Amino acid sequence: MRLIVEVNGMHYLRGENMGDVRKNNRTRFLEIMFKYGPVSRSEISEISGLTPPTVTALANELLSEGLVEEFGIDTGNRALGRKRIQLSLVKNSRLVIGVEIGVKQILAGLVNLSGEMLIKRSVMITFKEPDTVIRQTIDLIRDIVKECQDKKVIGIGIGATGLVDSDAGVVRNSPNLEWRNIQLRELLEREIAIPVVVDNNVRLMALGENTFLNHWSEVSGLILIHAGYGIGCGIILNGQLYCGNSFSAGEFGHTVIMPNGILCSCGKHGCLETLASGRAMTSAYRQKKSLEDLEYSKIMEKLLKNAENGEQGAVDILSEAGTYMGYGINNLISLFAPDSIILHGSLFHSEIYTTPVMKLIQENHYGNSERITIKQSQVDDELVILGAGALALQRFLICKIVTG
Ligand SMILES: [Zn+2]
Repeated sequence: MRLIVEVNGMHYLRGENMGDVRKNNRTRFLEIMFKYGPVSRSEISEISGLTPPTVTALANELLSEGLVEEFGIDTGNRALGRKRIQLSLVKNSRLVIGVEIGVKQILAGLVNLSGEMLIKRSVMITFKEPDTVIRQTIDLIRDIVKECQDKKVIGIGIGATGLVDSDAGVVRNSPNLEWRNIQLRELLEREIAIPVVVDNNVRLMALGENTFLNHWSEVSGLILIHAGYGIGCGIILNGQLYCGNSFSAGEFGHTVIMPNGILCSCGKHGCLETLASGRAMTSAYRQKKSLEDLEYSKIMEKLLKNAENGEQGAVDILSEAGTYMGYGINNLISLFAPDSIILHGSLFHSEIYTTPVMKLIQENHYGNSERITIKQSQVDDELVILGAGALALQRFLICKIVTG
């Protein structure tokens, strides 16, 4: 937990008082429950370094709140301790709502403490104006809250595309939604009496993967690469989501691969997104086959299908784009030397696209690629919801600041 305070522009380390110590102990206890549960009191004490009386007091507090439960057998033998009694989180005792505000639709889900999705709802975005989209988001959240009746929704996490300032709760710039400086958290909290946290959608995919599919791992480095219409990445360093200066980390799609290449929407030339994204490939295929009238998803469908059927022009587009993606990922490996790389998004479902990616990574001996686990995410469009739910749990239940 950050203990830095700002006074007259200077930053100071804040002295801990008893309240802080209690909160920190509770945070540590809950983290252990999520990571290692079910666990006994003595194991919690061993892992956390908290004294047995502190662990007992916290366990009683959480038992009375209905957040944890006991199971197992009391040996009745004080000499052996009560080791066989385990504590476990009551998975539906607290719930969070995860939301993804995408370009075409809003997806929302009710998520429990185990990362299970209990309710899922979606609505198409017809007008991108912030007022309309925020109104649709509020309605969707209200529908879910109404459906879960007496269950306790403790927080809402929102993932949006673009540059999102999570501390301020503001979408600074979302070119795809055409939003600038939208006070998303404030606008939602004004209408819904549940606390809200917002972040970038791809960052939340990485958080969702690490929290619920990687079991709250404290990996030194996990990078999730999303490739669909656009390209982005989410970075977990030392178990924490890395946001960078001004929350701008992860713009993998706007790293330059070809300095004299095509002009990108960001103003630079030859960004990875102009070479390896769904948008780039459909644009090339649209020109090649004169498909001006077709929308993105239809062209992509044709491109993938025709490539599968061996049409050389389609195969070339996919494998060339995959080659650039491979170069891009190798740059990330050289920079971060991660333990794990997760590939997410529709493009990685194409073997023709993914084969050159994997080949280039395997040839990158300098990056110690043989020590890196590379796999496809097992979750498709629900990953942002899970990540948004994970962020809400960490912020409003565990009370831990997870970004860095
Ligand atoms: Zn760019």
